[in-house]
Amino acid sequence: MRYISTRGGGAVSFETAVLEGLARDGGLFLPNILPDARAALAAWARLDYRALAGEVMGRFAPLDPGVLRDLIARGTAAFRHREIAPVAAVGPLFVLELFHGPTLAFKDIALQFLGPLFEHFLARSGKRLNLLAATSGDTGSAAIAGVRGCRGLRLVVLYPEGRLSPLQERQMTTVADANVATLALRGSFDDCQAIVKTLFNDLAFRDRHALGAVNSINWARLLAQVVYYVYGVFRVLDLTGAAAVQVAVPTGNFGDLFAGLLAVRLGAPISRLIVATNENDILARFFETGIYARGPVRASLSPSMDIQVASNFERYLYLRLNGDAAAVRARMAEFAASGRLALERDPGQPVDPLIAAGACDTAGTLEVIREVHARYGYLLDPHTAVGVGVGRRRQRPGDPLLCLDTAHPAKFPAAVRRATGRDLDRHPVLDALRGLPGRRTVLPADPAAVRAFVARFCPAA
Ligand SMILES: *Cc1c(COP(=O)(O)O)cnc(C)c1O
Repeated sequence: MRYISTRGGGAVSFETAVLEGLARDGGLFLPNILPDARAALAAWARLDYRALAGEVMGRFAPLDPGVLRDLIARGTAAFRHREIAPVAAVGPLFVLELFHGPTLAFKDIALQFLGPLFEHFLARSGKRLNLLAATSGDTGSAAIAGVRGCRGLRLVVLYPEGRLSPLQERQMTTVADANVATLALRGSFDDCQAIVKTLFNDLAFRDRHALGAVNSINWARLLAQVVYYVYGVFRVLDLTGAAAVQVAVPTGNFGDLFAGLLAVRLGAPISRLIVATNENDILARFFETGIYARGPVRASLSPSMDIQVASNFERYLYLRLNGDAAAVRARMAEFAASGRLALERDPGQPVDPLIAAGACDTAGTLEVIREVHARYGYLLDPHTAVGVGVGRRRQRPGDPLLCLDTAHPAKFPAAVRRATGRDLDRHPVLDALRGLPGRRTVLPADPAAVRAFVARFCPAA
């Protein structure tokens, strides 16, 4: 299996696709053939999470099975639940709990695996990699937890000073490992992202300091996410005896949803994928109208989905345009110039027969948290509440509904308090951070200052 770019760039190996993150032509990597595992599926239904992960990832990653098994063992060792991603019944609904990792959000599932995978490739080649990431919350702490202590890897996280919740900041700054640095910039999240881009676009600097990225366009992150779809769907089939499942996915960057599409291509019995967004609804609007049009970013209760341009959308576009890379380039250029692109479709037909979509605003999110807690005694975080709200509205009668449960509610105490009027949940992992010494460097939001820091912290390649 080779990896190709959505913009037509040449085929590369799995290893190159993972280490480079973004293709050199600006496109995203995809395998040249999407694997189909229908023939093996019945046998997979009885596997535990780790064994299933080996089978699923083995279809995409040409790694020695023993090596892959070891990487999966390391990538799941920090999870607090024996099943890694258990399914819970919440009244008539099922949720797939993806928050049992070290930072209590679903990004741990991919980033815990990514650290050991990078380390494996670097050890083989004797190279180093220095990762830069801008974060507005969950990604930074999950990336830090994923690469702390990994040999050959360093990570610099940039975040806007004073804009994260104290909890989110503590999750990042209390990590003591020497290969991790946190930079609090006196600016906005957009400033942080722009500075990361500036440093990456300085190709000489990027090559000299072996800079890499961990954002959600990295192929290995998607790969790790395909596993829990297959696992969760099997568990719901066990519990209900149904033949297929509908899955609701709270999404911003479309990463989680694209992993679901890969699971469908593998053969997982998923009859409907439901895209759930907050008021930043570019994806919901696209699947209702066929028009992908950027709007202003609005602050919501589910900040990890406050995104207007979904970085993984380009992969979907590539599949929809039947692998026509020239057409992808043209559409993406159109979008870059005008903030809008449109797909042709037959009148009266859905944009995608497999995908339904909707948005859930702040009032709706609060009501879902309140009502689900009052009725079933189960507390949802605001991201998952968006998924549940839209999932219930857009499901078809018949197949059971599984909602991806992307964060532990104790990470978002302000939203829980607004919804229920009470402080209902704590988590020992978060409580343990109180009083720990934090470590961060405060800098102006100035590319030159960050560049000087990175040059010192990240040894030349
Ligand atoms: C990142 C995140 C999401 C959205 O994930 P996408 O990759 O944008 O689909 C949803 N919920 C939580 C808690 C997150 O951290």
